[in-house]
Amino acid sequence: MYNYLFGPVPSRRLGMSLGVDLVPKKVCSLDCVYCEVGKTTELTTIRKEYIPFAELIAELDRYFAESSQDPDHITFSGYGEPTLNSRIGDIIAHIKQIKPHIPIAVLTNGTLLHDPEVRAELLGADVVLPSLDAATDAAFHRINRPHRDINLSRYIDGLVAFRREFKGKLWLEVFILPGYNDSAEELAEMKRIIGRITPDAVQLNTLDRPGTVPGLRTLSAEEMQRVISLLATDAIEIIAPAQKRTHSSGYRSDKENAILETIARRPCTIADLSTITGLHANEINKYLSVLENEGKVETVRQERGLFYQVKGR
Ligand code: SF4
Repeated sequence: MYNYLFGPVPSRRLGMSLGVDLVPKKVCSLDCVYCEVGKTTELTTIRKEYIPFAELIAELDRYFAESSQDPDHITFSGYGEPTLNSRIGDIIAHIKQIKPHIPIAVLTNGTLLHDPEVRAELLGADVVLPSLDAATDAAFHRINRPHRDINLSRYIDGLVAFRREFKGKLWLEVFILPGYNDSAEELAEMKRIIGRITPDAVQLNTLDRPGTVPGLRTLSAEEMQRVISLLATDAIEIIAPAQKRTHSSGYRSDKENAILETIARRPCTIADLSTITGLHANEINKYLSVLENEGKVETVRQERGLFYQVKGR
């Protein structure tokens, strides 16, 4: 049992990915309407050692001592914004010392990259996947609901500066929500900003799991094509749909069954499922995406949040 590690999880972009959580649930500098792990409860820009560094290092060492197969990536993601952890650079350095051949990926919202210290701490990673969903202040505040100290133009400048300094792969994730950031004007401005950042890839994502705000919907295939043609940026990619994850070698039917058996007894939120099965919310989300796409589960919104149940029950 680990407190800060989860998976390996079959990831759409990173193969079998060992997740590392660097902040508790749910510490973040943003409170995105589409967030898969729920509403931000600690909206902050303060960097500190949110989890005990020595405990995390001990868990990593134990994991690699006990595990016979290396993951494709070690990925900092999880319940919040990993760059808020002030020891992220030391953690990267430790992993590079014990497992130099395993690439390290950092999923970040990128809002702290204006800080030269944060940029320097991420230089040891192999892949950094920052997100940027808005090109205008109005869309930024509507989708990402940032901490009051975060300023969009400084955020974008941070991404541009990091691209200049970072020698690894930079994959920019843009989350498109119909009615929020898909107007022609917003996308024209986004295109200009992407031209400044020059990431190695632009990965378009849209709603896969329901967000914290009711009424959000996913982008249709036609709408996605329109976004692609308006962005007209080289190296654009669409993040693969959930069904394809079942082809991943790491897709575990025992975990899928544990989730299905639990919700067959009673409808559960992701937090309930995490408590009952002991799986991380990110991992549960991956399996629910597949099950929902296969028509095996459905969601019902109730006062306490979004509940998952076996379809047709
Ligand atoms: S930045 Fe990521 S973790 Fe934070 S609220 Fe947005 S989607 Fe959730």
